[in-house]
Amino acid sequence: MKISKLEQIILHNSSKVNLNRAKHILNNKELLKFNISKIDNVYNIYGNFKSENKLQTCNTHLKIDFVEEKIIFAKCNCSMFSEINYQNKTYLCEHLISTGLRFVEEVKKKLNNRTTNKDKFRIDKNILNELDFFRCKDSNNLAEKEECGLKYKRKKLEINVSISEVKENNSKCFDVSFFVGTNNMYSITNIKEWAESIINSKEYYIGKGLVYTPKKYYFSKADEELLEYIYEYTLFSDNENNERIIRIPNEILRRFLEKLLKKKIKLNYNYQTYITEVKDENVPLSFTLKQINDNYILTTKKYFLFH
Ligand SMILES: [Zn+2]
Repeated sequence: MKISKLEQIILHNSSKVNLNRAKHILNNKELLKFNISKIDNVYNIYGNFKSENKLQTCNTHLKIDFVEEKIIFAKCNCSMFSEINYQNKTYLCEHLISTGLRFVEEVKKKLNNRTTNKDKFRIDKNILNELDFFRCKDSNNLAEKEECGLKYKRKKLEINVSISEVKENNSKCFDVSFFVGTNNMYSITNIKEWAESIINSKEYYIGKGLVYTPKKYYFSKADEELLEYIYEYTLFSDNENNERIIRIPNEILRRFLEKLLKKKIKLNYNYQTYITEVKDENVPLSFTLKQINDNYILTTKKYFLFH
C-alpha cells in the first residue's frame, strides 16, 4: 500500500471538525501511549489519550488491512464514539483520527530516516517491509522483537563442510573442516574455539572483515545443533596438533552426517571430489534386467557411496 493511500483512508473517514480536533489533540500531546502490532496483513494500532473529563483516559483501537486497503475495525471508549457509532461502522472520533494520523506520521518519519532523497521513489514499494521494521521497534513483546531482530537486523551465517577420506594404518577415517560466512566463506582455523565461542554467544574473530557477535549474526537452528555436536566432539577427541580439522572415525561417520542433513558438502573420497547433499532416504537405485539366451544379467549404472 502506498503511504498516500494510507493517509487517504484515514482522512476519508474523518469529518472536518474531528480532523481539526485530532490535530489539536496531537499538538497538545494528549496522546499518552501508542502501540502497533501486526497479524498477517492487518495492523492493529492502539492509542491511549487524556480524556475530556481528565479523570479517565480514552483507549482507541484501529485495525487497517493493508491488502484490502481499508479500515476494518475502529473503537474508542469516548462518549462521542459510542453515540455516533450506531449509524456508521467506520466512524472515526477525534481520538481515532489522532491514532491514524500518528501512525502515518511515524511511518513517514521512519521512512525518511532510512532513505535518502535519491531513494524516495522506492518508499511506496517498501512501505510494508518498513512497517514491519517499525512494528518491531515499538513492540512490547520481547519474543516478537527477538524474532524481528533475526529477520531485519542480524545476518545469517552459513556453515560449509568439507570432508576428506584419510587412510591410515589400515583404518579409515575422515578429516572434516568448516567454512563460515555470508558471501565470502572463511576457513575456520581453530574449530574448538570457534564452536565454544558461538555456543556461549561470545564474540569471535572468523576472518578479516568478519567478527561474529550474537548481535550482528546468527546461525540456523540446524547449524546451532551442528555446532553443539562439534564442540562436544572436540572435548573428547585428541586432535590437538591440528586445530583446523576434526577427525571422524569411519564408525561414527553416519552419526556425524545426520547432523548435516540437506546440507551441501564437499566430499573427497577415493581420490575424487564430490559436491553433494546429505540425504536420509532410500537411495534412488534403478536396475536393468536383461535376458540373454537362458541367462539374466542385472546391472545398474549408478554409483553411490555407502557407509
Ligand atoms: Zn474517541
